[in-house]
Amino acid sequence: MDTQSYRILLYYKYVHIEDPAAQREEHLNFCNGIGLKGRVLISEEGINGTVSGTVEQTQAYIDMMDNHPLFKGTVFKIDEAEGHAFRKMRVRVRKELVNLSLEDDVDPLKLTGTHLEPKEFFEKMQDPDTVVLDARNDYEYDLGHFKGAIKPDIQNFRELPEWIKENKDKFEGKKILTYCTGGVRCEKFSGWLLKEGFEDVGQLHGGIVTYGKDPEVRGKLWDGQCYVFDDRISVPVNQEEHVIVGRDYYTGEPCERYVRCANPECNKQILSSEENEHKYLRSCSHDCRVHPRNRYISEHGLSEEEVAKRMKKLEEEAVQS
Ligand SMILES: [Zn+2]
Repeated sequence: MDTQSYRILLYYKYVHIEDPAAQREEHLNFCNGIGLKGRVLISEEGINGTVSGTVEQTQAYIDMMDNHPLFKGTVFKIDEAEGHAFRKMRVRVRKELVNLSLEDDVDPLKLTGTHLEPKEFFEKMQDPDTVVLDARNDYEYDLGHFKGAIKPDIQNFRELPEWIKENKDKFEGKKILTYCTGGVRCEKFSGWLLKEGFEDVGQLHGGIVTYGKDPEVRGKLWDGQCYVFDDRISVPVNQEEHVIVGRDYYTGEPCERYVRCANPECNKQILSSEENEHKYLRSCSHDCRVHPRNRYISEHGLSEEEVAKRMKKLEEEAVQS
């Protein structure tokens, strides 16, 4: 079994779906039937998913989509893998493919920024009249981004329009390039930018994942890794050089290892070396370390005395520095 080759598919298609609930049912049955795992969202505006399986399973899925009246023409980004990147198969119905929650929604089939292929995007990024705007969340940016890209200070995509309105001066009179992981967020977001009155808006077609695979640009001008929403957490982009931009949450040292805060109510993603994970009980703050349901403490079977001892040590260090 372990010698089998696996693949991970990332894809979306904006297309009007009359009955998302019925499509969900059909989709879930098909995926379960062939043993696929992953996460798929279906809404009235289309489909967005990432799934993993053996080469045969993923090919069966692609073939089904290619022959589907609604989903034919979907572009798949394909990564090779050593196993599944998900534990379950989930198909959910959502109001939107990407949650932007606009009062006056944008239909990317009618209004969206210019699609730029990796080569064009690479060239335009170097135009001094252009600003490159990361359309992702802060923790995604922190692991890797295009050199010089603007980082919106947001933890959720739906906060982005408000952030843009508050920071309009950064973009006034400039050409804007937006990018995200696979392209689905930019379809809508770049449309919104046009609607807001920005005139020259381009989006990276196929997203960072496609850019990293392009045989000509080879991921150039990308620093760090690309955050992905599956068990891999990060994938490489720049094939020519690897500059680490991630910084350890505790020490600021270069780091590309994400963990989640052990307080289940916090669950914040933090970059941390293995050493610091143990030292700080994989928690983002004192309150999270002493939370009664701290997962690090239960996973490692730490006694109350042991926890108290470690806390004391951290306190002493904090006083010294
Ligand atoms: Zn925390």
